Amino acid sequence: MPKLDLNRIDMPRQDPKTRAKNFNEVALGYPAEQAQTEANRCLQCPKRPCIGGCPVNINIPGFIEPLAKGNLAEAVRVLKDKNSLPGICGRVCPQETQCESVCVLDKRNASVAIGRLERYVADWEQANKQSTAPANLPEPSGKRVAVVGSGPSGLTAAADLAKLGHSVTLFEALHATGGVLSYGIPEFRLPKEIVQSEVDYVTSLGVELKLDSIIGKIDTVDELLSNGYDAVFLGTGAGRPLFLDIPGENSNGVYSANEFLTRVNLMKAYKFPEYDTPVSIGKKVAVVGGGNVAMDSARSALRLGAEEVYIVYRRSAAELPARREEVENAEEEGIQFKFLTNPIQFLSNEQGFVTGIECREMELGEPDESGRRRPVPKAGSEFVINVDTVVIAIGNAPNPIIAQTTADLETTRWGTVVADEATGKTVKAKVWAGGDIVTGAATVISAMGAGKRAAASIDAYLKELP
Ligand SMILES: Cc1cc2nc3c(=O)[nH]c(=O)nc-3n(C[C@H](O)[C@H](O)[C@H](O)COP(=O)(O)OP(=O)(O)OC[C@H]3O[C@@H](n4cnc5c(N)ncnc54)[C@H](O)[C@@H]3O)c2cc1C
Ligand code: SF4
Repeated sequence: MPKLDLNRIDMPRQDPKTRAKNFNEVALGYPAEQAQTEANRCLQCPKRPCIGGCPVNINIPGFIEPLAKGNLAEAVRVLKDKNSLPGICGRVCPQETQCESVCVLDKRNASVAIGRLERYVADWEQANKQSTAPANLPEPSGKRVAVVGSGPSGLTAAADLAKLGHSVTLFEALHATGGVLSYGIPEFRLPKEIVQSEVDYVTSLGVELKLDSIIGKIDTVDELLSNGYDAVFLGTGAGRPLFLDIPGENSNGVYSANEFLTRVNLMKAYKFPEYDTPVSIGKKVAVVGGGNVAMDSARSALRLGAEEVYIVYRRSAAELPARREEVENAEEEGIQFKFLTNPIQFLSNEQGFVTGIECREMELGEPDESGRRRPVPKAGSEFVINVDTVVIAIGNAPNPIIAQTTADLETTRWGTVVADEATGKTVKAKVWAGGDIVTGAATVISAMGAGKRAAASIDAYLKELP
């Protein structure tokens, strides 16, 4: 019987001054001894509430127990039974609001560090080059599924369908797989080597990958269905950036976070000129927004050499939607937060380059439909922040190409596709959808959960076919 130990073990990280100048991973992962000590804190509760807190229902005590006993191969097996992307989830999932928030030890502020242990097990597998592709995949079903988009929802749906014996083709618009995991989340939070190795695991299950393939251009969804696919899963995410729609937003030096982060991460602008794509960054940078995208943009700007980086956010610290850990990391690195501040126009010089943001101070009023207190402008409170680069990180919506080229798909006024929450089934026959294309910008694990539920529903449908 494990003993009660309230000393949650901290994970080593790069020192803030050093890491603010490099793109290497900030968190360094547990050494073996610490991982085992932390694993031994799990009480192996009979009711196992942590499992219910995980959107893909990983058997959490089931992988922690063999880890505590030093049986890493078994820990990998249990973990990967439900999660094909553990190295990714162990790094970027908001465990503090999911599995760890319902761990019985959370009441004592000492929840088991489930995410860090997940990461440890995944990294052990990678370092030891263990093959964990299931030895016995079922007999091929003879059914074909097209999965559109290789982000976490598409990768999960593809992996689960392949494990069930179906023939899966994964279509990806870009030249690289991973969706936001590759073009959005920076190397210092999620090394691309980890993404690649987890994508390799998915293809090792027999999934066929087609890169540079925009569905809606090379083929429409209806053409996929008439070309022999029995079902289609849409996991095309929410990659269209939203803008503030205020004067001066077209000035030079104002980026969408999408463009900025794609240049930095996917095109590796931080290694320019070794890689061809540059990114121009000034000395004073403002990032507008308060989510993970804003934190990633601000911390990337700092690493690219900006001297001062501000987060401009219209609510207060309490409402920041970014992960707490990433806000703390940003603060430690010297990012300055300008709370209750709302841009009203961008100022520029004669050459059209941005020189500042005129802002208004805000105060918090009554809660709005999101449940958060609504920011209300303070009269006569206008002021200017002098900057030479701005990154807008206020949200994303789905790219309209799928909706525009697919008959009978129901969409909302935000451009998201309507799909049943439990099954991912859309109103169109033979078509399922999940992840950000359905929910709008959300999280990696919620996209994975949607991919999993859709794969189960597609499998049930395929089994009914002659
Ligand atoms: C900068 C940033 C940081 C984030 N940080 C976190 C975090 O720390 N934790 C967290 O949980 N979540 C985070 N998120 C959110 C999370 O990454 C997303 O919710 C998640 O990736 C959504 O997965 P998805 O599979 O629905 O879509 P995506 O990851 O967007 O993948 C969709 C894929 O579909 C492809 N595609 C689009 N249209 C087509 C088409 N017509 N044909 C073929 N392919 C197409 C795209 O190129 C893309 O590869 C972050 C998001 C961003 C942008
Ligand atoms: S709730 Fe916490 S202590 Fe209990 S089994 Fe899950 S991780 Fe272990």
